[in-house]
Amino acid sequence: MIISPKIRGFICTTAHPEGCEAHVRDQIDYVRSQPLIENCPKKVLVIGSSTGYGLASRIVPAFAGEADTLGVFFERPPSENKPASAGWYNSAAFETAAKAEGLYARSINGDAYSDQIKELTVNEIKASMGQVDCVIYSLASPRRTDPEDGQIYKSCLKPIGTTYTQKTVNTDKAEVEEIVIEPATDEEINQTVKVMGGEDWERWIDALSDGGVLAPSVITAAYSYVGPELTWSVYKDGTIGQAKIHLQETCERINEKLSASGGKAYISVNKAVVTQASSAIPVVPLYISVLFKKMKEEGIHEDCIEQIRRLFGDHFTDTPSVDESGRIRIDDWEMRDDVQKYVAEAWEQISTDNLKDISDFSGYQKNFMRLFGFGIEGVDYGTDTDPVRSIDLVE
Ligand code: NAD
Repeated sequence: MIISPKIRGFICTTAHPEGCEAHVRDQIDYVRSQPLIENCPKKVLVIGSSTGYGLASRIVPAFAGEADTLGVFFERPPSENKPASAGWYNSAAFETAAKAEGLYARSINGDAYSDQIKELTVNEIKASMGQVDCVIYSLASPRRTDPEDGQIYKSCLKPIGTTYTQKTVNTDKAEVEEIVIEPATDEEINQTVKVMGGEDWERWIDALSDGGVLAPSVITAAYSYVGPELTWSVYKDGTIGQAKIHLQETCERINEKLSASGGKAYISVNKAVVTQASSAIPVVPLYISVLFKKMKEEGIHEDCIEQIRRLFGDHFTDTPSVDESGRIRIDDWEMRDDVQKYVAEAWEQISTDNLKDISDFSGYQKNFMRLFGFGIEGVDYGTDTDPVRSIDLVE
């Protein structure tokens, strides 16, 4: 079939298998262009491994450290007449490339919040890897079924306490608009913390620890974001920010649990990048467009793969350098004074008329399309392609 992009708001409902493969290959090529990472973790479990930061967290240890990797994700498989989701194609491409290097690379497709998937993961690690020395928790989800009470919780992206009015970009129309978001109710805050807070990360670490599959000196990390003041109402100080505070508190608890054996838990604060998750956050796509303009001009532009290469290369081989709250900060270049000064000034002026001049909106759009395997050089989108790509899943 010919597969074309079908965009619905902030999501593309189709994905291109060869395009996704090329996107994964580009990331592998980047990692290969960098030095190998000495003392890189060798047996890595990535929870949320099919797209964005989680995918990069699988590619980097595999191709810079010859690590065996087990990935957990929730993706739509293909059928004869319907393409799979991008994360499926990404994972198929990753596994093919990793296996060609003689590495162990297998995946589990299912609800990471469930006890069943945790049990399957523990059993697979026991059978194939023995123990893991690194666990990356990179889930981004709009909902979670809590295995303890069976209830479905939904996350939302809202301010707390006051109404938030800010500029945003309508990505379909390429227009700068104003968005008004009403504050979250207490129930919405609690539900967002249930989904995106640390409860599930801790349940994972407990399950892996009880199963005896954590190496004594295991390192585990979950990802967070801070960003500039202009996004704080909807991010850092909003519902998702409360979830990230819970993640940070959980990190401290996990550290206490792991300390006896020599294990460590970290929060890594990553930079804003275009992913399926970040595209859904109001205001953030416009902020990212402005940010990319300056970071590209300064030669410090990074996507997930460059960020995670720095995380593993600069922080996971020795004792990581951390901020006053104990967090790893690979958002350091994003938060540089000159970068944020540009963003603040451009933000004051930005409108539909100058969107393409003072921001890198076209770069944002290209990046978004690449998430789904579209707009990639060398891929012939006019030729029939077989949507079926298989993954040798652990079941
Ligand atoms: P993403 O949407 O690209 O990836 C989410 C991953 O979670 C995918 O692999 C998906 O399959 C998996 N997933 C979702 N629900 C699942 C479920 N129920 N079971 C199993 N897997 C499931 O997201 P991302 O932007 O890479 O975000 C990952 C983390 O990084 C999040 O904690 C996010 O807050 C953080 N972060 C993102 C940014 C950014 O700009 N994108 C910046 C800093 C931190």
